[in-house]
This record gives sequence, C-alpha cells and structure tokens, in this order.
Amino acid sequence: MEMEDSRQSGETRPRPSSWAGVMATRATDSEVPAEYPADSSVSSLSTNWAALGTSFETSAGRAMVTPLNIEGRLPRVYEVWDHVGGRNRFCCCGRCVTGPDIDFWYNLCTWSLILIPSALYFCFCSRHLWKVNPLLPIVTGIALVATLVFLLLTSCTDPGILPRRELRLAVPGLEEEIVSAVGVPPLPADGGLDPECPPLSDLQQSQGYRWCSTCKIVRPPRASHCADCDNCVLMFDHHCPFVNNCVGQRNYVFFSAFLFSTGCLGFSVAVGVGINYSSIGSLPDLWRNPLLLLALGLIGIPTALMLLGVICLGIFHLFLICIGRTTKEVLTGKITVAGRTLLHERGASLIHARSSVTPLEA
Ligand SMILES: [Zn+2]
Ligand SMILES: [Zn+2]
Repeated sequence: MEMEDSRQSGETRPRPSSWAGVMATRATDSEVPAEYPADSSVSSLSTNWAALGTSFETSAGRAMVTPLNIEGRLPRVYEVWDHVGGRNRFCCCGRCVTGPDIDFWYNLCTWSLILIPSALYFCFCSRHLWKVNPLLPIVTGIALVATLVFLLLTSCTDPGILPRRELRLAVPGLEEEIVSAVGVPPLPADGGLDPECPPLSDLQQSQGYRWCSTCKIVRPPRASHCADCDNCVLMFDHHCPFVNNCVGQRNYVFFSAFLFSTGCLGFSVAVGVGINYSSIGSLPDLWRNPLLLLALGLIGIPTALMLLGVICLGIFHLFLICIGRTTKEVLTGKITVAGRTLLHERGASLIHARSSVTPLEA
C-alpha cells in the first residue's frame, strides 16, 4: 500500500493492486513531501467521491478517502460513472448503457421518423390494405417491431467501451480480465492515476496499439476514442447520434440489423401507401380530400427521406462488411490490421456497470 509517486522518488514501486491501493497511497500524508504538487485528477475524483457521500479531507494537495457507503452498501460502477467513466448514461440500474444527452434531438428525430409515418400508415391505410391482402399490414407490423427492437438494442447496448484507468483500479479483477480479453499490455506499473505512456514496442505500434492520453490506457488495434462519449471503444465504427450511441464491436450486429429492418419497414410502408393511393382513383379525386392528402404527405415524405438515407447507409455498410473495415478506417485511411466487422466476436462487456467499486480500507 505504500507507494510514492515514481516521478518524485525516481524509484519504481509495486503497482497497487486496486483502487484502494492508489487512494491509500495518495492518503499517506505523512510520507508526502511538502512540495508535492497537487494531483488534479486525484483531487477531482476525490471531490466527486465526496459528493456521493464519502467523507473527504485534503492536506498538502493530497486526498484522503474513507469507505464509501450509499444506502448501506458500496456504490456500483454505474452510480459513479460520471467520475470514473465518460459521458455515457445508464438506465435500468446499470443494465443498459447509452450515449451522451447531447444526442437527444437527433435520437428524437429517428424515433419520430419511424413512429409517426408508421402510426399514420396503420390509421389510414391498414384497413384497405387488409382487404387487398392481410400480409401487407402484417409484414409492415413485423418490420416495425423489428426496427424498434434493433434500435433499442443498438442504443442501449455497451458498444465495447474500454474502462478508463480509474475504473480498472476501482473494480477488483477488472484489469486482469481486460488484459486477458483484449490482449493489451497491463497498466503501467507506476504513475498512480496519471501515468505516462508506457513504452510500446515497434511491433505493438505497427499492430495498432495506441496510448489514449484521456483514458490513460493502451487501446488495442481498431479501438478508438469517441469524442462524443469520451471513452475508448473496441472496433470503433462511428458515433451515431441518431441511435444515441457509439457503434462498435458489441453493437455493430444490432446496428446492421437496424438498418436492414428499417429499410424493410420503409419499403413496406411505401408499397402500402402506393397501393392505397392507387385505390383512391385519379389525382383530381385525391385533391378533393385534403385530409387524406395531408396524411399521405405525412407518411410519404418522411418515409421517402428515411428510405433514401437508410438505403445509402445500408449500401455503404454492406460495402464495409464485405471488405471487413470500419467506417473510421475507410474515412481516415488508418488501417493497421485486417479484420471483420459484422461477424466479429462481440465479447463480454468490460464495464461491469453493476459491480461494486472498492473503497479505501479504513
Ligand atoms: Zn480513450
Ligand atoms: Zn460515442
């Protein structure tokens, strides 16, 4: 537990095995030289712990954290994510994770483009279409349900977030699990919460291992830091504000299914509206019924826009799937290793949102 900052002592000490170790080290005030500079990351973290109900003291720029206790138990990762993670948000007590709230209006646009035309379709067209062929509204209904399910799965699934250094130190065993699952080098043996970039071999660099100065971690090939979520994400494809999440290793399959089902929905709605329109009669007849004209416009225009966007995006992602590249790799040209996208193994979530964080032993 006794570990000085190697930048001050010039010695390499054993890396603490847990968050508690780091914080204990920071808390040993009597061992700290008076001129030791305040560590902003530790101070801000400790202040945030204090905001959660933890007693907190500072002295000579160092922080002391006592055991955490939220409603008689240790806090869970999702409850302290604002302080040890990025801008992602959690719901259902940490079971679902989505993107930052800055995507709200884009996400609302997606839901509106899906739900409003679909609702109007079932209000104004489904009765007539049922008489023509019951399969028409049934297929549209199935496509709508599939679209909503895959949208929710894309939006609320961990895209493959790589926990930041603070979180790796806060959850016992997480560091070992990440090293084993992702194949990155272990965290630097010294440096506490603010380490320097560890030396990466030429081979590792050529393979695409990179140091993230924000997350203070080494990220594996194809991972990238999302500026919107402020996290590193495995096999990062892009951040999609319309689904309010990153698209990465763990939700790319849902995103692809969402594009496909949305295309099917748009197509079946367009066919239904076309059949319904053709049954009304000639164009002059339609102009005499302004309500129906408005309804068809409200269905047709958003559907046409959605269909056009989804078809373009779908063709692009079909191309990406065929060549095994992500959107970022193709747009930036930064390609390190070959890989798959759609059939890439999803792997388990590494953020362990419902795990308890380890407090400092008293
Ligand atoms: Zn990062
Ligand atoms: Zn993101």
